[in-house]
Amino acid sequence: MRVIVRRKLSGHVFGVLLVLAGLGILFFILWMAWPSVSASSSALSSLWTYVLTEQVDVASLGSLKLVYLGAMGAIFLFLGVFVLAFSRKILYLSSGSVMLQCPYCKNSWKARRAMGWAECPNCRKFVQPQVSKTAT
Ligand SMILES: [Zn+2]
Repeated sequence: MRVIVRRKLSGHVFGVLLVLAGLGILFFILWMAWPSVSASSSALSSLWTYVLTEQVDVASLGSLKLVYLGAMGAIFLFLGVFVLAFSRKILYLSSGSVMLQCPYCKNSWKARRAMGWAECPNCRKFVQPQVSKTAT
């Protein structure tokens, strides 16, 4: 059995961009904080203090506290993972054929492969069939 992972490209790219932005922001904060954190004996608590107290200048927009930047990075990362998870469709394919099910009349039929769109042989509607199980 092969597993085909199909992604909606736009959602996938959007998710990747969000993850990259989130990671970038978090790494930027770590990079900013590193000189004072690495000098300290307790890295985690000094990182926390640094993030809570320090601020960065954002172009001409003024200064932004690192803690807000960190929250933004975490939200981006979270959203990105969320978008990635939901833009991903996993279709199970056997080497032979699959059983597709019409979401309207619940009729199942055999197909050579899983399809995003297909015409239901029973009600003749153009539907997005669900893969009910793999036929052997
Ligand atoms: Zn149908």
